[in-house]
Formats: sequence, C-alpha cells, structure tokens
Amino acid sequence: MTQRDHKYLLLPGPVEVRKEILEAQTAWMIGHRSTAFAELFARLQTKLKQAFLTQYRVFIHGSSGTGLWEGASRNCVRDDRRVLHLVGGAFSDRWAKISADNGKLVDTIDVDWGQAHTAEMVADALKKAHYDAVMAVHNETSTGVTNPIKEIGEVVRQYDDTLFIIDTVSGFLGAELRVDEWGVDMALTSSQKAFALPPGIAFAAVSDRVIARAKQVKQRGYYFDFVEIEKSLQKNNTPATPPISLMFAADKQLDDILAEGLENRWARHLHMRDTTHAWALSRGFGLFAQEGYRSPTVTTVDNRQKGINVDDLAKFMSGKGFTIDKGYGEIKGQTFRIAHMGDTQPAVIDEVLAYIDEFIGA
Ligand SMILES: *Cc1c(COP(=O)(O)O)cnc(C)c1O
Repeated sequence: MTQRDHKYLLLPGPVEVRKEILEAQTAWMIGHRSTAFAELFARLQTKLKQAFLTQYRVFIHGSSGTGLWEGASRNCVRDDRRVLHLVGGAFSDRWAKISADNGKLVDTIDVDWGQAHTAEMVADALKKAHYDAVMAVHNETSTGVTNPIKEIGEVVRQYDDTLFIIDTVSGFLGAELRVDEWGVDMALTSSQKAFALPPGIAFAAVSDRVIARAKQVKQRGYYFDFVEIEKSLQKNNTPATPPISLMFAADKQLDDILAEGLENRWARHLHMRDTTHAWALSRGFGLFAQEGYRSPTVTTVDNRQKGINVDDLAKFMSGKGFTIDKGYGEIKGQTFRIAHMGDTQPAVIDEVLAYIDEFIGA
C-alpha cells in the first residue's frame, strides 16, 4: 500500500491530477493580449491538433464541457432545421435538452441505458429526414458505453449537409479517437476527465465545415459564438479572458501525454478496463454496458444481482484513501462506477480492487 498525503480521486470526473500539473498552474500571470500568451496559445494549438488527430483547429474555451454543448447546439443547426441526437444515458439526454432549450428542432434515437447506438440506426434515421447535424456522445459516462463513432461517422459522411458532432468529454485521451479520419466535424471535451487536468477549461476540434455552418446561423449568442472564437483563434487569442493558469497546466500535461504516445495511452486504458472487468465478473458483479461497447475509461459495475451497499463501500474506500463513485442518475446504487482514466496507472487499479475485495470479503 502506498502512503498518500491526500484522498486519491477515483471519480469519472473530476479525476486525480498529478502534482506537477497542479504546480504548473502557479506560474506568474501573463496578460492575455501579450506575446507570451500568443506563444502559449500557438504551442497549445500544435499539441492539441496532435492529440485530436485533426488538421483543422482546436478551440480553447473558458467553461466546462457543458458550455461547448450549448455552443455546438447554437452554431451548428440553422434556425428552421432539425438536429438528431443519439440518446442513451444521462449526458446524451441532457445535451438533447440543451439543443431544445436553444430553440432547435430536436429528434432523438433513444436506446436503453447501457446500450450503444449503431451505424444502422443512424443510417435509417438519415434516410427518413434531413438533419443539419447528428450529435452523439462518444463515451457515455453514466452507463460506461463507448459508441462506435467511426462507424457512425461513415454513415453521416454520406450526407454533405449534415455535420457530425461528438461529445468526447470522458473519451478524449483515454479511448481511441481519430477526429479527421473518422469524419467528425466537431469533437468537444472538458479538462477534468481523461485529460487529467483540473476543471474549468474546454476544448473542441472544429472543422472548416462547422465554421461555414456557424456563419449561416443568425442567433449564435456571444460567449459561444464560433465565428468570434475563430476570428480570435487566427490571432492566437480568445475573445474573452481565458483561464490562463489552466492553459499552463494543459501545456505541461500535453507534453507528457504526447511523450507517452496516444496509442500507448489508449492501450493503458484498455488494460485497466480489462483488469476491472475480469475482477467484477469473477466477484459475481455484472457489467452494465452492452458487450462490445464497454468503455476504456470507466466501468459501470452492475450491482443489481449482488446488491452490496454502495454507500458503505464508498465510506470504506474513503478510509483507505480513495474517493469513489456511487453510480449516476437513475442507476445510482444499482450500479457504481470505477473510473480508470487519465493518468491513473494499472497499479492503482490493482490496489483499489484489492480494497474492494477486503470490503466484500472476497
Ligand atoms: C462530465 C461530462 C459532461 C459534462 O461536462 P462538464 O465539463 O461537467 O460540463 C458531458 N458529457 C459527458 C459524457 C461527461 O462525462
């Protein structure tokens, strides 16, 4: 057992952040209209493009991921056109509501929580109606499902006028994602999940098609106006004052992530997932997510058969130095989630599973 000076955050966001990354935030402040800032912004662009595997641009925005949901809903769907949302969990459901709240005409493809969306479902829907955009969640954090974004992208790409927009808030830098190759027009994320930064900053890979679409939308608002953000981005800047300290942290974290290598990072996540799955099944738990679509970054353990007291588990784990999750939304308690994302290493997962064994008496 390792001796810790703090509780290790094993939640599926915000996640544990390494001390070096926390410390990077303590650099002296710089003005956001300075040359030093433009250089920082340009460095981040280069690294973020490598991280998203995109040739276009990456928005850097002072908000959580929810802000860029609203931005995507507002900027990517014209006023009297429809948007198709793929809904199968708490986050995908909320995003669809945000599109509706912004006055967009929303259709949904609903699947039961724990199930994935397939390319066939999307192909059928696109045959029946015209959509300005398809909006999907890459990794549904509430259920532990990773949707087949590559396959869905192949379908959406057949429609010239339909943008493919994904939320990869808990997928990015944990689950494989190849933005340009997979035909994704916009991939939005926040800092506090597999990116392993503190919360408060959001990022999005954005294609030229998205910028062109935004120009056709009248009521884009201001804080999330993609045309304004793009104008500033061309000058290595942001329309409003950004979270500069978090950008310092991102600068360092991206160096470390790119040094690890994207493919190694994805493989490390798959390894931690497979360990967690084998453990859960061998202890008589189920796995909530549909087989074949189980997330590399978070396992939603199905507790309905075994029925352990998840509140007591969380208390026990807290005594051992770990903050763990008790399930999300409608499936709280019936499930609990083990996050294996960000900079968490396999040895930490082994330690956590050994403690849960101690709790259940396995
Ligand atoms: C956490 C999460 C969000 C919300 O992101 P915030 O940064 O908290 O606004 C959205 N989508 C998914 C899939 C998430 O896991």
